Amino acid sequence: MPDNWRAARPRHTQYLQERITAFVNNDRPKAKNWYSRTFVADVEKAILSDSRAQMEWSIHELLDCRQFMTDEVYADLLSDLKRVFNYDTFSAKPRKPMPDHWDAYALCASSQLATCPYCNYNYAHTLFRDGQGAMRPTLDHFYPKALYPHLGLTLANLIPSCYACNSSLKGEADFFLHKHLHPYFDQESVNFECYHPEHDFVSVLMAFDAIQGSLCVELQPRADCDLTRNSVSLFALRQRYARFSKEGINFIAAQFAIEALLSNLNTASRWDPGEYLDLEQVTLRTRLLRFERSEYREYPLGKMYADLFDQFHRGWEDLNETA
Ligand SMILES: [Zn+2]
Repeated sequence: MPDNWRAARPRHTQYLQERITAFVNNDRPKAKNWYSRTFVADVEKAILSDSRAQMEWSIHELLDCRQFMTDEVYADLLSDLKRVFNYDTFSAKPRKPMPDHWDAYALCASSQLATCPYCNYNYAHTLFRDGQGAMRPTLDHFYPKALYPHLGLTLANLIPSCYACNSSLKGEADFFLHKHLHPYFDQESVNFECYHPEHDFVSVLMAFDAIQGSLCVELQPRADCDLTRNSVSLFALRQRYARFSKEGINFIAAQFAIEALLSNLNTASRWDPGEYLDLEQVTLRTRLLRFERSEYREYPLGKMYADLFDQFHRGWEDLNETA
C-alpha cells in the first residue's frame, strides 16, 4: 500500500520534532529519569522514520533497557515516554474550533484509506462540524503504545481502523511479539472465491440459477504465510465475511445478468443500433454494477468484490469459449 500519510508527513514530522527537541534539550516535560532523554535522542531517527525495521530496532533498544533497570526505573522511563509522545492529548476532541490545530482529527482527514485496512469492512471517514473534528476512525497503534510508548505518535505505527478491529478484536495484542500483516508494508494476501462443493466455476455459471442457493464465498489466506493466518484469525475475518457470502453471490448474479443483457442488446443492435447506448463503453458495465474494479479500495468489502469480479470474468470467458 502506498504511504497512507504522505500528505500529513511534513506537518506531523514538525509536530513530533518540536516535542522531541523540547524534551531532549529543554527538558520539557521534565524527565523523571535522566536516562529518558538519552533514550529519546538515541531512537529519534526511528521515531521519525517510515520504516518497520527502524521501529522494530527501537523496540529492541527499549527492551534492552529493561534488562539493566529496576522495575521502578523502567516504569519511570515508560512514564516519561508517554508524556513526551502524548497520544491522549493528540487524540482528544477539541472543545472549541482551533484553526490550524494539529491533532488526530487533522491527521485522519489526510488519510488515503477509505475503509479500515484490517477488515475492509467498515468505512474510515473523518468529519468536521462547525470547524471542529466531529468524527474519525480510531487510530490503532500497530505496536501498542502501552508497551512501546515512544512509538505513540509515529506515523508508520498509526493505523486508521474501525472500532471492532482496534478495540473489540485486537485489544492489547502485541504485534511485536506475535507477527501480523502490517497494512502499510505487507502485500494483500487474502483472496475470496465463489465456491461450490461439486462443480467448477464454469459449470456453476452454466447452471447458475439452479444452484446459486448452494454457493458460498470463501476467504482464503495465502497458505504459506503465517502473518496472514494470524491476522485472519485475530480479526475474525472468516466469521465476519461469512455474513457477506450472500452479497457476494448476488454480486456474481448481477454480473451474470448484465452480461446476458448486453449480449442480447448486442445481437439486437446489429439490426437497430440505437442512438444513445454505446455497448463498447467500459463505463456501462461499471454503472450497471456500481463497482469500478480499478478503485476497489474505495469500497467496503472491495477486495471481496474485486476477486469475485475477476473470477466471474475468467469464468465467463471460459464459458463463451466452450459454447
Ligand atoms: Zn476493521
